[in-house]
Amino acid sequence: MRPGAQAARTARGGALNARDDKQDGLRAEVSAYCARVGTDPLLVQGAGGNASWKNGDTMWVKASGTWLAEAQRTNIFVPVDLAHLRAAIAAGDMEVVPRALAGSALRPSIETLMHALMPQTVVMHLHAVEILAHLVRPDFAGPAPAPAPWCWVDYHKPGAALAGAIVARLREQPEAQIIFLQNHGVVIGGADVGEVETILTSLLACMRTEPVAPVAPTGAEASTMAKLTAISDEGIQQLALDPRLYKRLRKEWTLCPDHVVFLGAEAACYADAESFVAAQTMGDEARLAIIAGVGVYVAGDFGAARTAQLRCYYDILARQPSDAPLTTLTPPQLAELLDWDAERYRLAMAR
Ligand SMILES: [Zn+2]
Repeated sequence: MRPGAQAARTARGGALNARDDKQDGLRAEVSAYCARVGTDPLLVQGAGGNASWKNGDTMWVKASGTWLAEAQRTNIFVPVDLAHLRAAIAAGDMEVVPRALAGSALRPSIETLMHALMPQTVVMHLHAVEILAHLVRPDFAGPAPAPAPWCWVDYHKPGAALAGAIVARLREQPEAQIIFLQNHGVVIGGADVGEVETILTSLLACMRTEPVAPVAPTGAEASTMAKLTAISDEGIQQLALDPRLYKRLRKEWTLCPDHVVFLGAEAACYADAESFVAAQTMGDEARLAIIAGVGVYVAGDFGAARTAQLRCYYDILARQPSDAPLTTLTPPQLAELLDWDAERYRLAMAR
C-alpha cells in the first residue's frame, strides 16, 4: 500500500471514530433527558411524546408504543433512513413508510415524519400540560416572551395529515424552532439537547397556570358496589367532585387525540354506581364511571396508560382560568381519528 493511501485510511478511520463518539454522546444525552422528562406526568403521559436525533443520513427516533421514561433502562430508539424520508417529504409523499435500519425489530413512532421534517439535530415532541392548557383555548396568543421563533399548526390527525400541515407551515416560517400543535402538543428543535431543554424550560415558565384548588370529597361512596374501584388519584377524583370540571367534561371531553383514542369519544358519566353496573350488565364494555359528586370509578383492569390520559385531562381542565369554551375535536375529526365510518359514529353518538 502506498504511504499516502495508508495515511488517508487512518484519517478516515479517525473521522469515523469521532463520528461514532459524537453519536454515542448524543444518544446518552438524549436518553438521559428523555428519562427525566418521561417521569414527569405534566410533560409525558404513558407512551405519549417522542424524541429524535439526526446523524448524517440516519435519524434515531422513539419506537412506537415505548415510554420515554424507559430511555435509559431499555432501547427505545430505532434508526431510520433519513435521506429516504427527506426525499419523500420533498416529493410531497407524507404517507411514506419509514425504513428501519440495522434490522431493528422496533417500529418507528407514527410521528416519525414530524421529526424528519424538522431541520434541527435534536427534536422533542411532548404533550406538555402547561402548554396544552393553552393549545385548547380558541384565543391562543403564544408565549411571552418567546424563547425561540415559533409557529402554530391547526389540529390535524397525527401521522401523514399532521406532517403535511407542518411542512406547509415551515415553508412559510422556516426559522421556527417551536411548533404549537392545536389541541395536541409542542415540537421543539435544537442544535443539541441543551438548546431544546432551555427552550422547553422557558416555555413552561411563561405558560404556567395555577391549577384550581381541589374541592373536598362529599363522603358519598360508590365502592360498595362489588365491581367498582375508586381511582386512587386525587386529581382524577376532582373530575367528579368539582361541579365546574364536571360541567366542562360533559361538553368538552374531546380535547386531545390521545385522550380520545384511549378513553373514547364520550365522557363516561353515570348518575350513580347502580346505573353503571346496569349498563355493564346490558353488555356495555365500559370500564370507567364518572359519577357526579361521588367519584371516578373503574371496573376491572383500567391500566396505567388510560389512567395517565385521564390525569392529563384533569390537569388541563384544572388550568382553565375562566369558563370560556374550549376548542374540542369536531365530529368529523373524531370519526377520522377513531377510523369510524359515519354510521358507526352516528350510532355511538346517539347512545
Ligand atoms: Zn403527539
